[in-house]
Order: sequence, then structure tokens, then C-alpha cells
Amino acid sequence: MQPRGEFRVSVSKDYLVFASAHFITFAGHRCEGLHGHNYRVRVTLDGRLNEESWFVFDFVELKKIMRRLCDEIDHLVLLPLQSDRVQVREEGETVSVAVDGKPRYLFPRRDCALLPIPNTTVEMLAEMLIDRLRAALDAAGASGLTAIEMEVEENFGQSAICRVTL
Ligand SMILES: [Zn+2]
Repeated sequence: MQPRGEFRVSVSKDYLVFASAHFITFAGHRCEGLHGHNYRVRVTLDGRLNEESWFVFDFVELKKIMRRLCDEIDHLVLLPLQSDRVQVREEGETVSVAVDGKPRYLFPRRDCALLPIPNTTVEMLAEMLIDRLRAALDAAGASGLTAIEMEVEENFGQSAICRVTL
């Protein structure tokens, strides 16, 4: 039998959340103060059916990977390493954060997630999670996937979606 439809699988579970602190910078000189969100994540994989299993990707494996990715940044201060305006420096056990050259925060290193993004917007968090998921899917030997879509919600009804075609 040949599969006839187009398929995608989607996971959004109550445990795919991370409670983290952040602040973002805006165009011009505006910059938020530190605050937190209970972020929620939903992921969708588009792909061809595996012809032995008749699924796009194993839900159990996908949930396990997504949970790990959420846990990696849960209960941490999210800081951008590629910002032109936010300077993040590791000094031993401490991370110092300056904005536009002015000292702003000191955090214990263990409480920080230093992220390879220019701003900790939900858009950039979604794109970063796609990169991390992609690496994990490769490591898991996934094949036939054609796109990954990641939605990160920072408030009820307020989310960003990033879609990457593979
Ligand atoms: Zn925020």
C-alpha cells in the first residue's frame, strides 16, 4: 500500500514548558527589565511516512527530546551571546551583564543559560530550539523529515512560530 496523504506530527504537552527569566532589547535604546515567563512549546514535524512503521516520527522519542530541550533552559536566566547591545561576560562563577556598556546585572553562572542568539525573543528561542531539535533528530537517525515548526508561547495567546524547511 502507498501512503496517499501528506503527514505531519505535532506535540504540545503540559510538561513541554520552561519557566525562565529574560529581558529583551528593542530598536533604539529601549530595554526591558528582568522578568519571567512560563513558556510553552509546541513542535510539528512534516515528513514522509516511514514505510515500515507508517509514522513520520516516533512520538515517544520526540517527546523525550523536547522535554530535554525544555529542561536545559528551565529555571534559568536566558541571556543572548550575539547581541550588539547586551554584553554578557563570564567571570569565574559569575556572569556580568551590561546593556549599552552600562553594568546591569550579576548572576551566579549556574543560574544562567548563555544562548547563541541576538535577543531572547520568542522568535529567536523558537529558532534556537529548532537547531537543537534538528541535531537531536540527526543523532536519533531520523529520516524523511521535510520541515520543523516550533511555536513558543510566552503568554496565553501570545506566541511566535518559526518554520524551517529541511
Ligand atoms: Zn518577556
